[in-house]
Amino acid sequence: MALPEPLARLIHELGRLPGVGPKSAQRLAFFLLSQDLSVVEGFAAAIVRAKKELFPCPQCFHITDRAPCGICADPERDRSLLLVVEEPKDVFALERTREYHGLYHVLGGSLQPLRGVGPEMLHIEELLRRLDKEPIQEVILATDPDVEGDTTALYVARLLQGRPLKVTRIARGLPMGGDIDYADDVTLVRSLEGRREFLP
Ligand SMILES: [Zn+2]
Repeated sequence: MALPEPLARLIHELGRLPGVGPKSAQRLAFFLLSQDLSVVEGFAAAIVRAKKELFPCPQCFHITDRAPCGICADPERDRSLLLVVEEPKDVFALERTREYHGLYHVLGGSLQPLRGVGPEMLHIEELLRRLDKEPIQEVILATDPDVEGDTTALYVARLLQGRPLKVTRIARGLPMGGDIDYADDVTLVRSLEGRREFLP
């Protein structure tokens, strides 16, 4: 028996979510249908509102609802430190540790030549421009501990050569091939504290 069209559509849309296969999509759909209309409306509204009101910070490219973002605008942050990450979720992971008090720069991904992601698709130009005008003394490369993250760190480090800057890479100890935001807080803090000068 064919599914009613609205149900089939809902399952199809939920199936777009990462990690959600057809079975899970169906389970989520039935869960939503079992909820009060107000709950489901609140859920749908939250998705639309987040999508409409959030945008990348014009300075650091972290996700924000104001320009500049709360971190860039915070006078308490150490403006001599700039931590470079791949994605906004990495910023949230590092902020959760409460151990880092400098600024961030979100690249928007990692270099993946085989998938056609080149340097021009990341916020690397913007990084160089920030270094030209901001009083940054240390750049901490905190791209993911995988092949793409290492490649990206190396590429950026090469571009920074010759500038009067300390360039460091977060320490190993993060699970190789992993994602920064999967690491627990203690591991993240240790890898930040154990950062070493990074020479390409
Ligand atoms: Zn910002």
